[in-house]
Amino acid sequence: MTHWAQRVVGRVLLTSEQIEEAVERLGSRITADYKDKELLVVGVLRGASVFLADLIRRIELPIVLDFISVSSYGNETKSSGIVRIIKDLSVPVKGKHVLMVEDVVDTGLTWAYLKQVLKAGNPESVKICSLLDKPEARKTEITVDYVGFTIGREFVVGYGLDWKERYRNLPFVMIPSKEAVEKGALGNGRTEE
Ligand code: 5GP
Repeated sequence: MTHWAQRVVGRVLLTSEQIEEAVERLGSRITADYKDKELLVVGVLRGASVFLADLIRRIELPIVLDFISVSSYGNETKSSGIVRIIKDLSVPVKGKHVLMVEDVVDTGLTWAYLKQVLKAGNPESVKICSLLDKPEARKTEITVDYVGFTIGREFVVGYGLDWKERYRNLPFVMIPSKEAVEKGALGNGRTEE
């Protein structure tokens, strides 16, 4: 059956089944790696929200959950390179094992900045788990500790990732078609004014 978004957005890059498998694999690895450790999982709002909700239910440890919100693309589909904290952490990271959960690491500027900010709080360790990794787009020398999928430079939407703040609720990851981009598709066949 054709999902409604396939008519207005484009093609599916990663199916729900592929994502579910990756989440399970990551959850198992994280469970094994942090066994007997106090783990603080930090979700980066808003893009990581869907991935985070699935991932934490696959981590078989009594984790503590917190959120941080940073500025990202705005209405553009290219990285601005500007990182700004909109909502800071609610719990101190001192002495904790911190695992950041991101939707995608693109230029790496956000992660490089957040890592620096977190390290200033003296955590025991800081690592990152990202659903998607775009190593070809990197502008900094950083690596991603836990990766769901390595993809190219293409702009993707769904499963938490937005297109002009829309489509975060798609159960899979899509690549907008050229036609949809030209139309400025906003869902349900509507187009931007
Ligand atoms: P970076 O600082 O690594 O360039 O960018 C990280 C942030 O840029 C992500 O958390 C995400 O908000 C945004 N971003 C990067 N690539 C994409 C993409 O393909 N689609 C969407 N929707 N956002 C992206």
